Amino acid sequence: MDSSDEESDQEYLFKVVIIGDSAVGKSNLLTRYAKNEFNMHSKSTIGVEFQTQTMEIDGKEVKAQIWDTAGQERFRAVTSAYYRGAVGALVVYDISRSTTFESVTRWLEELKTHSDTTVARMLVGNKCDLNNIRAVSIEDGKNLAEKEGLFFMETSALDSTNVKTAFEMVIREIYNNVG
Ligand code: GDP
Ligand code: MG
Repeated sequence: MDSSDEESDQEYLFKVVIIGDSAVGKSNLLTRYAKNEFNMHSKSTIGVEFQTQTMEIDGKEVKAQIWDTAGQERFRAVTSAYYRGAVGALVVYDISRSTTFESVTRWLEELKTHSDTTVARMLVGNKCDLNNIRAVSIEDGKNLAEKEGLFFMETSALDSTNVKTAFEMVIREIYNNVG
């Protein structure tokens, strides 16, 4: 077998976690990305869940196993098992609630504590469809992301704005990090 065959046989499976305060839209971002579904009255259930999504990069099949806290964050009990092995993270706040933006620093610290490798990180300002009741400016989001060295994007799980782009940017960055 020559080296090009070996390369095409290689499997890529990346663990990505979604973190952020309760009700910022983490679960809906994941269902929008993985199933193109949105739930206006989603109820958080206890326990860890993930969805696997595949994309193609450089002609290779890259799989992302994307984990959702499934409500653990409410009890400030996101376990270390949740973070274990994660190579990518979406840190989500709600642009209509500034307290969720203020929590971002704490989530980044928690992520740092629990991760032992380079983690591709994106700051996500979700619910950008709620521009009329915006409480966090795009500028504030950008500045924080720049300061902490994260990618930044505003999304809407409701109207699909940037959802695919955000996940795929993180997955691409992970691929670049390992490649
Ligand atoms: P989680 O607790 O972070 O997982 O948040 P959920 O995904 O359960 O969403 C919490 C609430 O926000 C639900 O009522 C969702 O319908 C709503 N929601 C989630 N994403 C958006 C969004 O992009 N725009 C709007 N307007 N509402 C959203
Ligand atoms: Mg949830």
